[in-house]
Amino acid sequence: MGLNLVEEIQRAISSRAQMEADLRRGLTNGEVHVFYQPKVNSLMGQVVGMEALARWIGADGMISPDEFIPLAEESDLIDELGSYVLHQACEHSVGWLRKGFPELQTAVNLSVMQLANPSLPKEIESILHETGMPARLLCLEITEGVMMIDPDVTIEVLNELKSLGCEIAADDFGTGYSSLSYLQKFPIDILKLDQSFVRNLTTDRETFIIVSAVVRLAQTLGLKVVAEGVEEREDEKLLKKMACDEIQGYLYSRPVSADDFEAWLQSRLSVSRVLKAVG
Ligand code: C2E
Ligand code: CA
Ligand code: CA
Repeated sequence: MGLNLVEEIQRAISSRAQMEADLRRGLTNGEVHVFYQPKVNSLMGQVVGMEALARWIGADGMISPDEFIPLAEESDLIDELGSYVLHQACEHSVGWLRKGFPELQTAVNLSVMQLANPSLPKEIESILHETGMPARLLCLEITEGVMMIDPDVTIEVLNELKSLGCEIAADDFGTGYSSLSYLQKFPIDILKLDQSFVRNLTTDRETFIIVSAVVRLAQTLGLKVVAEGVEEREDEKLLKKMACDEIQGYLYSRPVSADDFEAWLQSRLSVSRVLKAVG
């Protein structure tokens, strides 16, 4: 029994080490890609931005970020991965701007380890400079729970990031046990409602009441509210009714490769031009 447990632990350690070595190699071999998922303005229906989401497509297929981001965080790979995603996202965005697409805000997720790295603001500054990305078009998403680990330090770092001109979003809001009044202390611009709220919107009246109140309060505090994980027309209808600013979810598009996102954008813009011309 005892020996089996030791063997199991040894096996787990060696498979983890193998996966870490694979990710390290994958990063240099171009196996990590940045996918995009659109954010849509709920009032007018136009695309206003997108979230950059990392994808690792290895020899055995696609591995979920929920699996490889924690792995990168526990090794020394998160800085390299984080910089790569930031750089790619800025480069793609500037490419689309140069092709004549309208200005869209690109949101990039930051992990707890990136936030703890004192050289992060300098690094973002140099990525903005190298790629020619306008800072105001870059939004940095940080999980509410991560912000709450050491609020005073978070405020300092966020202020530095904001002084570059970037916007800050509190991600997965509603899961980190912080109050809206506390959030007001953080220099954030956007509040992203956690998917769990959206899931229960149509079925649970209490969730509907809570979400409506959160949206109103957040807007009173001057924050923009984004709902994510929206899959159903019914949910979209309710979110529009409560005047939630932006909507993101499979309803519009799953996260897709840069090429597919460009094609999606192109067709969406053509449709809205036709609709405008018709009347
Ligand atoms: P997140 O930041 O909360 O990202 C939203 C997740 O919800 C994404 O999962 C997205 O694909 C998924 N999603 C979007 N719309 C829908 C929908 O309508 N229904 C459902 N069921 N899901 C939807 P994904 O891409 O698997 O990413 C998972 C998490 O991994 C992200 O959660 C984020 O925390 C982390 N992550 C992804 N890319 C990066 C990255 O580049 N850096 C860091 N630090 N974290 C990342
Ligand atoms: Ca996010
Ligand atoms: Ca989220």
